[in-house]
Amino acid sequence: MMLPDIAPISTWYNGLAAPLIIAGPCSAESEQQVMHTATALARDGRTKVFRAGVWKPRTRPGRFEGMGCQALRWLQRVKCETGLLTITEVAIPEHVRQAVEHGVDMVWVGARTVANPFSMDMLSVELAQADIPVLVKNPLMPDLDLWMGAIERLARMGVRKLAAVHRGFYPYAQAHMRNVPKWEVPIDLRSRMPQLPIIGDPSHIAGRAELVHEVAQHALNLSFDGLMVEVHPEPPHALSDAQQQLTPEAFGLLLEHLVFPVPSSSDRLYMGAIEQTRAAIDSIDMQVLELLSNRMRLVEQIARCKRDSNVTVVQQQRWQRIRESRTAQGLGLGLSAEYITSLLELVHKESIKRQAEIIRGEAPRNGD
Ligand code: PEP
Ligand code: MN
Repeated sequence: MMLPDIAPISTWYNGLAAPLIIAGPCSAESEQQVMHTATALARDGRTKVFRAGVWKPRTRPGRFEGMGCQALRWLQRVKCETGLLTITEVAIPEHVRQAVEHGVDMVWVGARTVANPFSMDMLSVELAQADIPVLVKNPLMPDLDLWMGAIERLARMGVRKLAAVHRGFYPYAQAHMRNVPKWEVPIDLRSRMPQLPIIGDPSHIAGRAELVHEVAQHALNLSFDGLMVEVHPEPPHALSDAQQQLTPEAFGLLLEHLVFPVPSSSDRLYMGAIEQTRAAIDSIDMQVLELLSNRMRLVEQIARCKRDSNVTVVQQQRWQRIRESRTAQGLGLGLSAEYITSLLELVHKESIKRQAEIIRGEAPRNGD
């Protein structure tokens, strides 16, 4: 589907411009926490939109699920007393009605809701009537069509003030960051929907406060149109996402240290052809390294088993099978046999070295 005209950020509310800075706690926890954070952000002046989750979609039940409607009154107070615009997450039409009734200025649809076309259809009807900007997070899985589909469902119903939010993708295995950025996905989104603003959510990608800066800078370098960052007065005591939130002071410093490139319109559209490809390569390299590290953890596990059970099986056969199957797979993927062989030998050598360290006193053996 051709996306109808998207209203640029500058048309959403008076005085808004890219890069749009959205900040605030993961969850609205108390009136005092909300007001304290909003006052500090408004004093700083660079944040234009105050975020706070009121209904929290938790992966497992029984955790803090948000303060619900009462927190919408705190957001109303933020708007009145600080002049900041407000944004919260909506997942069902009733959330939209409540948010609009309480004067919330924008909403975002979370990663767990975006993946469900039925939910998106129901929300689209309500959001078209509300006529407020809607930010669409990427779904948990790196499925660009699903992300675009959610945006298209809104656009088809007539929502024009739209933006995507890149919050990274669920890594099945433990990774350096909480969510794998897979920068190639928002880059593809930009080329397929060039007019759509993209906001970076470095907090949910990083998962740890100390990594937020690096991710935010990367998003800016790729000509993203804004950032949404989680800010909490006392991060260690936050009721959700405690590890990734910044204090208002730390957030102020972050904004000072970030370099905001002034993108030309062609940068915005193409994110710079070479930069775009480099970002995709960087992202893939990061995933390759993480996979190698996960592989090594498994090798260590096997080495410990061997050590504990005194297994002395010669594993030449295993190594032979690895070579054959990986070579066949690599050839099918368009890689040369020499390349695959050198790579496998390197990986294998390092595995044996690590195993030998663990099985002390025993000679290194083939196979992992
Ligand atoms: C959030 O922004 O706090 C949130 C729940 O985000 P996501 O849907 O990206 O997990
Ligand atoms: Mn959060």
